[in-house]
Amino acid sequence: MVRTIVCKKDGCSGNEFHISTEDNKLKLVCKDCGSTYYYDVSYYEFIMLSNCAECNNDTFKVFNNLDKQGIYAKCSKCGAPPEKIYIDDEGVQVTYEAKLLQDIKQFMYQIDQRICSLEMKIDGLEKGQELLEESLAYINRYMSE
Ligand SMILES: [Zn+2]
Ligand SMILES: [Zn+2]
Repeated sequence: MVRTIVCKKDGCSGNEFHISTEDNKLKLVCKDCGSTYYYDVSYYEFIMLSNCAECNNDTFKVFNNLDKQGIYAKCSKCGAPPEKIYIDDEGVQVTYEAKLLQDIKQFMYQIDQRICSLEMKIDGLEKGQELLEESLAYINRYMSE
């Protein structure tokens, strides 16, 4: 179930907010009355910035997906999400593209590791084959003597 977040102040019911992220919390400031709300977003692997990724507008409609325990925002003008900054494995802030690139690199590294261990196994097999041939040659020699 997705719930639209609406300002709870008496007589306001504004549904557009300025957003910012403070200490793993998403801070919402009602555009109409200035009331402030905080939502825990420490489970996010990114930080939402205060401006729209598409049109640079700075007011958002905010939704709470109760099933997935997720807060998300849409630009009140164009519906795009806010600009985001991702945190990489070392805790450095990076763009989405950089994060993606890093994930791909990590994935490639894992594949590389697998190929490497596969090659070692093949190597081992070849050595086993050599040993077998040597033994057979030895046995042959022994038998013919
Ligand atoms: Zn309000
Ligand atoms: Zn926008």
